[in-house]
Amino acid sequence: MAGRLEGRVALVTGASRGIGRAIALAFAEEGADVALVATNEALLASAAEEVQGMGRRALALRVDLADAESIKDAVESAKKELGGLDIVVNNAGITADQLLLRHKDEDWDRVMQVNLGGAFRVTKAAARYLMKSKAGRVINISSVVGLTGNPGQSSYAASKAGLIGFSKSVAKELASRGVTVNVIAPGFIETDMTAALTEEQQAKVLEGIPLGRMASGREIAHAAVFLASDAAAYITGEVLRIDGGLAM
Ligand code: NAP
Repeated sequence: MAGRLEGRVALVTGASRGIGRAIALAFAEEGADVALVATNEALLASAAEEVQGMGRRALALRVDLADAESIKDAVESAKKELGGLDIVVNNAGITADQLLLRHKDEDWDRVMQVNLGGAFRVTKAAARYLMKSKAGRVINISSVVGLTGNPGQSSYAASKAGLIGFSKSVAKELASRGVTVNVIAPGFIETDMTAALTEEQQAKVLEGIPLGRMASGREIAHAAVFLASDAAAYITGEVLRIDGGLAM
């Protein structure tokens, strides 16, 4: 049976680890060629190898998303090497958890630069190629804390809320060209990001999740595949919470 993303080219940021890697692999499983963006060369290379192991083309692009200049080059080379660009997933993200009064300006700037600035620049550089695609898709990975807020995460939550406003605006701008823009807002997912929480913090988090567990990256990837597929052609500007009921 043909995959749901057969013949598509996707670019996934933060594809070296965690949720982004799970999305890149799920896209490859469904038939897409994938450009993988992150900074860790070794992890990028192993993710690219896994994509190639599924018979798909992979392009590993070592880019720091805080570096505006190299983003444009990366998007251009993905388009050139892989012959187009149909799907962009802005997944890369960082945290700088600190209470407001102790939050350093430079940490605030870095979170905004990577989480929000990165998504803006990647989407801007990719837009003209997405508009040429027969099924252009942008999927932005926000967070439930962008909807609810969270003490100690003012910069992270602001960047994730910003991503939602950004996505809805771009969804309206690109709709006439058949490009959809949607947001996934994960709750707590088992990755390096949540592994950084103490046992006590993890136990507290689990108490608040009606389904009583964290999710795997793959459970986010399933939704990304759906939003990227033809089945989701009439969905745009949507925010899909995948959080085990945490923020309902
Ligand atoms: P993770 O395991 O910490 O992985 C983060 C990814 O982003 C890595 O691939 C990392 O690559 C990349 N990245 C970070 N800074 C970068 C930069 N400056 N330039 C390029 N790439 C960069 O995180 P995750 O848990 O998979 O999270 C993925 C996304 O989901 C993030 O946006 C996060 O905010 C969001 N999210 C996660 C959870 C959760 O519970 N895990 C919940 C809600 C939302 P390198 O290290 O190779 O640079």
